Amino acid sequence: MDQLRYKPIAYVVSEELVKISSLLPSNKNRSLLVHSLFSALRLPYFQFPNGNRCIQILKPRRASPKELSIYHTHEYLEYALNPHNSAESTGLQGVEFGLEDDCPPFHGLHEYIRLVAGATLTAVDALKDDTADIAICWDGGRHHAQKSHAAGFCYVADCILAILALKRPNILANPVKKPRVMYLDLDLHFSDGVSQAFHSTGSTGTSQVLTVSMHHTAPGFYPVSSLSNIADTASPSFDPFCLSVPLKQGASNNTFLRIWPIIERIKDVFDPDYFVIQCGVDGLAGDPMMIWNWSLGGEGSLGWCVDRIVNRWQGQKLFLGGGGYNSVNAARAWAYLTAIAIGSPLALDTEIPHHNAFPQYQPSFTLDVPAGYMQDQNTEEYLKVVEDHFDSVINILQDRLGPAGAGSSNTTLD
Ligand SMILES: [Zn+2]
Repeated sequence: MDQLRYKPIAYVVSEELVKISSLLPSNKNRSLLVHSLFSALRLPYFQFPNGNRCIQILKPRRASPKELSIYHTHEYLEYALNPHNSAESTGLQGVEFGLEDDCPPFHGLHEYIRLVAGATLTAVDALKDDTADIAICWDGGRHHAQKSHAAGFCYVADCILAILALKRPNILANPVKKPRVMYLDLDLHFSDGVSQAFHSTGSTGTSQVLTVSMHHTAPGFYPVSSLSNIADTASPSFDPFCLSVPLKQGASNNTFLRIWPIIERIKDVFDPDYFVIQCGVDGLAGDPMMIWNWSLGGEGSLGWCVDRIVNRWQGQKLFLGGGGYNSVNAARAWAYLTAIAIGSPLALDTEIPHHNAFPQYQPSFTLDVPAGYMQDQNTEEYLKVVEDHFDSVINILQDRLGPAGAGSSNTTLD
């Protein structure tokens, strides 16, 4: 295990990726802030206690149209990858592919799709080549993107492409073993794109992929999906490998501390080879969404959850970004999580170093994203309902997987 910990942490970034990700209309310049803080804090030079350098910067490759077509439709790719369709006004055909409203076309869209998918797949390659046990791509995590259209600020389904690549048997290492992949989504919003892609109706077997999304729920809250609610385990459409933990307004560290054992139990029963963790930070206090009241530090915080994943979960891990509309808080959070992944956690009161974006970190000029003042509406009564539901879900999972956790895949996606 010690030997494993000393593998470098693969961190995917390049000037080109930052430039193109900074054009994302919903998160303009966020990528620039994120990677600038990463550099300003000198995270690329952090070392393990044995003196080895422990961040390996990987330049992303561009995903080829063929790689993108493993999930996306030919029609969507043909349209979205054509530079002539990246203009900032769209015709009727663009509307057909979701390129309107919250997903407007923009100059460079065709490059954005190929580079962001390529960035996530570069991180996946590092895990599959076994050159890293932890890989990070904060520009990825586009969990709302659909097979045939853009949705919810997401133009490319990099999470799905990553899962599909990770579940493929490793021909050189073990051509027989079908790796299991657990996708955990910590974003404020339900991971509809990813959950739908792997949801299977009427199956009684096992699956190589398990998705679980912890997200905000309220009538009409985006994205509306029947999969985002507490499911009826007796329904024929219930799939124990496609799970949702809906939470209410004001969810705080206390609520996450309380429900985290559910996630741990799911992980223990499923026993995956790979984890894909979508670390959207729009649930943190201070986000313009103003819905949850989650903190970066303290028991039950986002940092606390990621620390557990990094230090206590066996298996290789891919950390992706996601939502987060207070860009400096996203930069704070992802720098803090990167340091946890390296094994050299930073103090929450670490001062933001002087760099170009320094003035934007006012008034605290520290790394912390503390809780605000908001009532946590996840009552004891509600949390008990969630816990009881997952007691039966976990029993079903155990029955499906068998005592040895052995099983063959009947997942519909190859
Ligand atoms: Zn979100």
